[in-house]
Amino acid sequence: MRPLERWLAALFLVTLPACGSGAKAPAAASTPEAIPPAPPEVRLHAFACGYAEIEDMALFGDESGPRELVAPCYLIRHPRGTLLWDTGVDDTFAQTKGGVLDPRTRIRFRVETPLRDQLRALHLAPADVTYVAFSHVHGDHAGNAALFPASTWILSRRELEWASTTPPPESVAPGFLSTYPRVKMRLLDGDADIFGDGTVKIVATPGHTPGHQSLVVKLRRAGTLVISGDACHTHGNWQHRRTPPFNTDREESVRSMERLKGLVDASHARFVVQHEPDELDAFPRFPGFLD
Ligand SMILES: [Zn+2]
Repeated sequence: MRPLERWLAALFLVTLPACGSGAKAPAAASTPEAIPPAPPEVRLHAFACGYAEIEDMALFGDESGPRELVAPCYLIRHPRGTLLWDTGVDDTFAQTKGGVLDPRTRIRFRVETPLRDQLRALHLAPADVTYVAFSHVHGDHAGNAALFPASTWILSRRELEWASTTPPPESVAPGFLSTYPRVKMRLLDGDADIFGDGTVKIVATPGHTPGHQSLVVKLRRAGTLVISGDACHTHGNWQHRRTPPFNTDREESVRSMERLKGLVDASHARFVVQHEPDELDAFPRFPGFLD
């Protein structure tokens, strides 16, 4: 999006008068508390919710060597609600300059702009997010789960069963574990069409974790996007169907990648390798959006 368009889009977001039967009427538009009405079309915002500095990509089954990956979040504004896909790395990491080293994986996680602040840029508070959908509940995808106790969480039943074992797997985000018992959840047993109109679909792509899932968004102008989650972490792993050795099921992981390839081909979709920085850079710069 060009700067003028972005400016107009921002203006539109904060000045559009209330219409329709939205439950929350916006107050004076300029305060952070004012919730702009849902736009008439579906919009997709993409933004960084953390970074992961990896010492050796062999950890992910990729060619060895250091690399930095991004942990994005995607916010979808739909006339029937707002959906956040993944919650990134825990916002508290932003307080530690240079990031926090995970001693178990030797991955350094860093947050530059907290998720809460990025929502504020869209005049949203965490409680305004209708649905929080998780590709899976690892720390770099469910890190800020505890920010959203008022939202309906969407995840697969298999993922919850896996994450809620005693003791829980070490890779599960602590904020997920501390919050899930008291939130409203929509547990999926397969694919789901979230708003019932084909615009936002979640598809089961197990293997990285038992209940891993991917996101398919159909936009009026931008077309269809298939967003990987961690069905693959890098371009190379996608191309060569390589899987991290720590995936819970390698055969399932490869089948899930084949499934995604089929979906991409059938809908002439843009495939987004979620952790690849160049994929995030290809989106309109936040708070810009695709529609
Ligand atoms: Zn990840």
